[in-house]
Amino acid sequence: MPVFLPPISRRRFLKGSLAASAVVAAGGCATHKPASDGQSWALLSDIHIAADPNLVHSNVNMTRNLQTVAQEVLAWPAPVAGVLINGDLAYNSGEAADYAAVLGLLRPLREHGLPIHLALGNHDQREHFWAALPEQKTAEASLPERQTAMVPTRYANWFVLDSLIATLQTPGRLGEAQRAWLARALDENTDKPALVAIHHHPALEGATGWPLEDTAALMEILRPRRQVKVWFFGHTHRWGVYHDESGLCLVNFPPVAYVFEEGRPNGWVHATLQPQGARLELRCLDRTRKDHGQVVDLVWRA
Ligand SMILES: [Zn+2]
Repeated sequence: MPVFLPPISRRRFLKGSLAASAVVAAGGCATHKPASDGQSWALLSDIHIAADPNLVHSNVNMTRNLQTVAQEVLAWPAPVAGVLINGDLAYNSGEAADYAAVLGLLRPLREHGLPIHLALGNHDQREHFWAALPEQKTAEASLPERQTAMVPTRYANWFVLDSLIATLQTPGRLGEAQRAWLARALDENTDKPALVAIHHHPALEGATGWPLEDTAALMEILRPRRQVKVWFFGHTHRWGVYHDESGLCLVNFPPVAYVFEEGRPNGWVHATLQPQGARLELRCLDRTRKDHGQVVDLVWRA
């Protein structure tokens, strides 16, 4: 399973019960908006949260950026069905205290009834994160060392995969067992579009940096299964939307934290899922940027 943070019941939370384990089955009680119809999603990546809330990297205070994004997600005019954070949750080396800070910063979203799905990146450390969330340590029986799961929703099935090889080892790899699990899960769930979320970017022609090492083997699974519509990734801190030759959409999330190259946007992506595609809207932390509010319509391949 990916780490999944269920909504927190605010009433129970205020009573001072064990906050992190306070779970309600159906949404929190704090939202005044109508219930979500499952269309609207907040997609984040590379939040790089440090235990020290004042830490600044590349002129960015990562804590403040996540707080700003969380406020914007909560203020979104359409009810948001869920939040995905696609890896690199921790600042650099996945310290236990970093995850405590992550949990604190995500609390307002959970109190407002939003489920949060988390993937891990190369700056994360599984054991420390599991220690921060012991009640969430559930794994596929066949993949005890990975956090991998399908998240069924109304318009699509999300497949949140785990490409972390080892903390601070920059490239990613799914491995044979996880790829076999994915192929099986995709074959058993062909009813809806499949949206794949992996921290690392594809090692396709022209790719730079340290991508997913087993991209070729993964593509042999994704390309012929036509219900797979998109591979969402982060890692490069570089917003962009592409297609491969099979029509598979490739979406590179911007970082919530800092960019690697000057001039790139940081922020998040709002997605509206539709039967035939998805409308993405880039939300920049710098609202004066020309590309703030940029809309990209993804059309699902046949
Ligand atoms: Zn990152």
